Amino acid sequence: MRDKFVIGNWKMNFTDTEARNFLSGIKANIQDRKTKVVVCPSYLSTKTAIEVLEDSNIDVGVQNVYYEAAGAYTGEVSVQMLDDIGVKYCIIGHSERRKYFAETDESVNKKAIALLEKNITPVICVGEDLDTREQGTHLEFVENQVRKALNGIDIRRIDNIIIAYEPIWAIGTGKAATENEAEEMCSNIRYIIQKMFGKEVSENVSILYGGSVTSTVSEVFISKENIDGFLVGGASLKQDFVEIVKIANMVE
Ligand code: PEP
Repeated sequence: MRDKFVIGNWKMNFTDTEARNFLSGIKANIQDRKTKVVVCPSYLSTKTAIEVLEDSNIDVGVQNVYYEAAGAYTGEVSVQMLDDIGVKYCIIGHSERRKYFAETDESVNKKAIALLEKNITPVICVGEDLDTREQGTHLEFVENQVRKALNGIDIRRIDNIIIAYEPIWAIGTGKAATENEAEEMCSNIRYIIQKMFGKEVSENVSILYGGSVTSTVSEVFISKENIDGFLVGGASLKQDFVEIVKIANMVE
């Protein structure tokens, strides 16, 4: 049985004080352990989140990392630093990082390998833009992203990755993909992993959907065979995050 996840990507939102207040408010309402719940605040609030959530069922992740171990990389944070304070998850390859901060498939791959060496789960984001979807080449486009991200990863570590399918046209637009579009892509991603690492491994990898997820639309997605939860942006900054977790918990 694969793990189900609801992961909140706060992006560049919430001051440290706001982060503390928000997490103190929601943690008592997220009790059920059926779905794994993760919040990814800004780096500045990572330790605050770990402290506030110490006695809760919510784990803490981050939104980026650098793959080198240490050294002259001004402004960057290493995997070792994350491991030292108890971070368990790290989003990599988010389309905003690819767009604004020159993240590439190659750097995503290096980050995934570095994270897995420290047993931190990479949440690898993939997804096509609107042009690619309209041209009908979205399946090939995402296949290429997945293959490059997973290139050379030790088969024994693959079940410690999470893939998040996030069509760029659905992120922050209020226009989620349909559940069938998302299921088609998530099942295709599972098939790619099967071709690369075998069926047993592919069945253990959690594949999430992200893109304008709210509690209103989440039930139809989570009922799909190959969608194992959500990467949530905007709604993860609101009480609706708790509702999304409740819905994920209800569906077997
Ligand atoms: C995201 O940025 O990962 C995301 C899915 O954003 P939103 O839910 O706001 O579309």
